[in-house]
Amino acid sequence: MGGTKILAAAVNSKQGIIARYKKATPNIKKPDEYVDALSDAVEALLKSSSIPKNQIAAVCLGIPGSVNPLTGRIGLAPNLGLKNYFIKEKLEQKIKFPILIENDVNLGTLGVKYFGLGKKARNLLAVFIGTGIGGAMIFDGKLYRGSTYTAGEIGHITVQKGGPLCGCGKRGCFEAVASRTAIVRDITKDIKSNKRSSLKQFVSARQKIKSKTLASAVKSNDKVAVKHVEAACEIIGRVLANIANLLNIDTIVLGGGLIEALNHHMVPLIKKSFKKYVLKDTAKGLKIAASKLGDDAALFGGIPLAEEFLNIKV
Ligand SMILES: [Zn+2]
Repeated sequence: MGGTKILAAAVNSKQGIIARYKKATPNIKKPDEYVDALSDAVEALLKSSSIPKNQIAAVCLGIPGSVNPLTGRIGLAPNLGLKNYFIKEKLEQKIKFPILIENDVNLGTLGVKYFGLGKKARNLLAVFIGTGIGGAMIFDGKLYRGSTYTAGEIGHITVQKGGPLCGCGKRGCFEAVASRTAIVRDITKDIKSNKRSSLKQFVSARQKIKSKTLASAVKSNDKVAVKHVEAACEIIGRVLANIANLLNIDTIVLGGGLIEALNHHMVPLIKKSFKKYVLKDTAKGLKIAASKLGDDAALFGGIPLAEEFLNIKV
C-alpha cells in the first residue's frame, strides 16, 4: 500500500505472479478505512485468481513507513497519515489468513534478493530513488532490520551541511539533494531565474514534472535537466561508495521511478562517481545494476517474508 496506489498480487515461487489487483489509495477519514480497502483487495484477488482459500498461506503487506513486523505496529507512515497504528491486529479481524507486515522498501529488497538481480548476492544494498530515497540491506542472505526496525534510512544521511530542508525536518539529507523531488526543485529554480529549458512549460503551468518527463528532457539534451541529473548522480555515487566502504557488500541494486526512467543515463554516471570514492579492495567484484522488477519487487518480497516468519515454503 502506497500513498497513491494499492498494488496486490497472488504469488508463489513456482508460478510467480498469478493474479494482480490495482486501485487508487482511498482518501480516508479514519485509519480503519484502509483496513476495509485492503480486505476488499484480498477478496477481489481471490475471486479473479480462483485460487481456493485453503491454498493461501499468508497475506503480506508493505507499508511506506516504520513498521515492526513482530508486533504489526506502524510507528509512522507519513504518506498514509498513520501513526502508532496496530494494522496487523485490525486486518486479522477482517482477513482470515495469517497477516505479515513489513516496510515497503524492505519488502522490495527481499523481492530483488530472491527473484531479481540479487539472486547471487550474499551482501546486498538496494536503493530506490524517486520522490524520496529509500534503502535496505541484506547480509548473509538475511534482511537487516536494525535494533528498532528502522535500518536502511539512507535517504536521511546528511550530505550537505545546512542544505535544503528535508521532509524529515532536517537539512541537507541525501533525499533532499538527490531525489527526483530535489532535482525537479533545482530545475524549477533555474527556470525561474530565466535559464532556457524545455521544461519551462511545466513550470509555467505549475504542472508536476514526473520521472518520465524529466527523462525525455534529459534524452533531448536539455542543458538544465542534464546538469541537475548529473549533479545528483555524482552525489548518489559518493553516498553509495561511502556505504560500500563501511559494509563491504557485493551487490548494489538501484530502483525506483527515477532510475526506471533514466537507467541508461544515470547508472553509468553513478558508477563513475562511485569509482572516485570507493576503496580499491571494496570495489573488487562489486556489482551495481538497475533492478528490472519495478513495482513487482515488493509483490515478490511477500514470498520470502512469509517463508521467514511462518517457516513454510511458498
Ligand atoms: Zn531527511
